[in-house]
Amino acid sequence: MNKGVKRILVTGGAGFLGSHLCDRLVAQGHDVLCVDNLFTGSKSNLVQLLGRHNFEYMRHDVTFPLYVEVDEIYNLACPASPLQYRINPVQTTKTSVHGAINMLGLAKRTGAKILQASTSEVYGDPEVHPQQEEYWGHVNPIGPRACYDEGKRCAETLFFDYHREGRVRIKVARIFNTYGPRMDPADGRVVSNFICQALLGQPITLYGDGTQTRSFCYVGDLIEGLLRLMASDDRTTGPINIGNPDEFTMVELADMIVALTGSSSPIVMRPLPADDPRQRRPDIARARAALDWEPTVRLREGLVHTIAYFDALLSGAGGRSLP
Ligand code: NAD
Ligand code: UDP
Ligand code: UDP
Repeated sequence: MNKGVKRILVTGGAGFLGSHLCDRLVAQGHDVLCVDNLFTGSKSNLVQLLGRHNFEYMRHDVTFPLYVEVDEIYNLACPASPLQYRINPVQTTKTSVHGAINMLGLAKRTGAKILQASTSEVYGDPEVHPQQEEYWGHVNPIGPRACYDEGKRCAETLFFDYHREGRVRIKVARIFNTYGPRMDPADGRVVSNFICQALLGQPITLYGDGTQTRSFCYVGDLIEGLLRLMASDDRTTGPINIGNPDEFTMVELADMIVALTGSSSPIVMRPLPADDPRQRRPDIARARAALDWEPTVRLREGLVHTIAYFDALLSGAGGRSLP
C-alpha cells in the first residue's frame, strides 16, 4: 500500500453524514470500508462511490462483532433523528452501546485510532448556555429521547474507559445539528421537514411556540471538523464540540426557508415533543484552539444548497449534488 494511504472503516457510512465522510476519504485516496445495516441509511447515498477501487460497502449491524484490519475507525452508526430513534428505542441504545464496545474492541486489537460521533444531546435540555464541553448535561434518563441521549453518553464512557485502561487512541466529537444535501426527506428533522413542506406547498409544522433554538452546521464544515479531529495528535481526545454557533429560533428558521423558497405554505403549530431541548448553541473555543477549525458556511448560504438538492429530488431529477 502507498505511503500515507490508510485503511479506514466508516460505520454508518450509508447515512447522511457518513456518505459525505466516505466521499472525502475516498477522494483523499484512502482505502475506505463502509459498514452499514441500512436502518436509516441508503445505498443511493453511495452510488457515486460504488465501483471505485478504493471503496467497499459491507452490510453489517455493529451490534455484532466485526473482524477486519484497519488503521482508523469513524463510528457514526446510529439513527440520529428523534422520529427514527423512537421507532426502535432498544435497538438505538444497543447500537450506541454494543456498537461502541465492538468498535472499541476492534480498535484495541488492531491499534486503530477511533473517532466517536457523539452529540450535543449528551447535554440534554441544557441549563448552561452556550454549551461548553465541561458541562455534564441535563438528561431525563427515562424519557422518549433517553435511548439516544443515554446511549451516546454511555458510548462516551466506554471510549474514555478503553482509552484509560486499554490505551486505545480515541477522539470524541460532540456534533451539533447538521444539515445539507442527502438528508433523508422523511426522517423528520426540522430542516428537511421545513424545506420539503415549503417546496411542496404543504403547511410548515412548527412544534411548540417555535421559540426554542438550534444552531445549524452545514455538512461540509462538519466533515472538515471530523477530519481535523482524527488528524490531531493523540493527546487530543476530546470531547470536542463541532457545530456552528449561530443560533436561531425555529420561527426564524421557518421564515428564512419560506423566503428562500418563495413558498406560500402557511405555518401551523403542532405540540412540542416531550423533553425537546429549549435552547442549543455550541461553544467552539476548544475546536478553534485544538483543531484551528470553525464553520465557514452561513445558514442562509447552506440552506440555498440544501433547497436546491431537495428541489431536484422532489421534482424527480434525483439530483445528488455534492456540498
Ligand atoms: P443517519 O441516520 O443518516 O445515518 C446513520 C447511519 O447509521 C445510517 O446509514 C444507518 O443505516 C446506520 N446504522 C444505524 N444503526 C446501525 C447499526 N446497528 N449497524 C450499522 N449501521 C447502522 O444519521 P446522520 O445524521 O448521518 O448521523 C450520523 C452520526 O452522527 C450518528 O451517530 C448521529 O448520532 C451523529 N450525529 C448527527 C447529528 C446530525 O445533526 N446529523 C448531530 C449529532 C450527532
Ligand atoms: N471485537 C470485535 N472485533 C475485533 C475485536 C473485538 O468486534 O476485532 C468485539 C468482541 O466481540 C468483543 C468486543 O469487541 O465483544 C470487546 O472486545 P474486548 O477485547 O474489549 O473485550 P473482550 O473480548 O475481552 O470481551
Ligand atoms: N421541529 C419543528 N418542526 C418539525 C420538526 C422539528 O418545529 O417539523 C423542532 C423540534 O421540536 C426541535 C427542533 O425543531 O425543537 C429541532 O428538531 P430536530 O428533530 O431537527 O433536531 P433535535 O431536536 O434532535 O435537535
